[in-house]
Amino acid sequence: MTRIDGHTILIGLMAYPIRHSMSPTMHNTAFEALGLNYAYLAFDIDGPQLADGVKALRTLDMRGANISMPNKQAILPHLDQLDQSAELTGAVNTVVNDDGVLTGYTTDGIGFVNDMKKKGHDVKGKKVLVVGAGGAGIPIAAQSAIEGAVEIRVANRQDDHLQNAKDIAQTINDKADAVASTLALEDEEAFKEALAWADIYVDATGVGMKPLEGKSLVENPTWLKKDLVVYDTVYAPRTTKLMEVAKDAGLQAVYNGLGMMIEQGAAAFKLWTGQDMPIDKVEAAMVAKDKENEQRTSH
Ligand code: NAD
Repeated sequence: MTRIDGHTILIGLMAYPIRHSMSPTMHNTAFEALGLNYAYLAFDIDGPQLADGVKALRTLDMRGANISMPNKQAILPHLDQLDQSAELTGAVNTVVNDDGVLTGYTTDGIGFVNDMKKKGHDVKGKKVLVVGAGGAGIPIAAQSAIEGAVEIRVANRQDDHLQNAKDIAQTINDKADAVASTLALEDEEAFKEALAWADIYVDATGVGMKPLEGKSLVENPTWLKKDLVVYDTVYAPRTTKLMEVAKDAGLQAVYNGLGMMIEQGAAAFKLWTGQDMPIDKVEAAMVAKDKENEQRTSH
């Protein structure tokens, strides 16, 4: 690549395992399209190496990094400050280095909110029901609160994540200008009542993708009112069972999570470069990379 020279600014991805990640394709395509002298590289870094990874970020004067599992919580003590998105979620997926001051952000929820805005749905003033309180559900609940949703309910089945649901609801009540509560997914009446109450329903469970492809937490179209906005964080397949049920119920606003995935990257890109990611070009490059990966694994 001719654009790499002595002035190239480095951005990294620190996670393990990481070789499957689409983020290098996403960001390098965008740098090239805009003629920006940046490069994005993936680094296999897990728990014990994380402190050295952050030190390298400072030493090499990198502009920043994406952080993924298993480092999203562990990185917190290594940073100088946190944006509200990271403070509420207790996790970081993006680090920005401003002259040696490292700030942590979580852009997944920002990605959700921005994608919704592009689709014509502002979460401001809305009642949001989020099912699932993991890596996707927590930032979606938190960012909805930051962006002015009036009330948020987080539903979870009775597993290890139920406590996460309670924790994020408590944090929102304590630190954001919104009201939050939880419900157990097993309580079918409470779940149906919450669906009738909500303006926006987000499924952040992964039910609907492999190995649960063809399944949905809502099987009965009569549970969904016509003006409900339905957002499934799954993006493979592009149409999930929940989306089919919602379309059968006559809903107009039914979305998969592809836009959120791209917008979380675009939000990080903007933080590092100050520029808008050229989304059409990035999407095309990611589809091509997907195909290349499929061909490689089928041979
Ligand atoms: P996670 O493992 O951190 O959390 C999963 C959550 O779903 C937990 O709350 C768990 O209790 C719940 N859950 C799991 N199986 C369930 C079931 N059968 N019934 C009811 N609840 C169930 O996972 P995650 O990282 O939050 O990812 C969840 C989904 O969101 C995945 O499909 C992932 O691909 C997607 N995701 C999308 C984006 C995006 O940008 N679109 C980003 C992150 C994750």
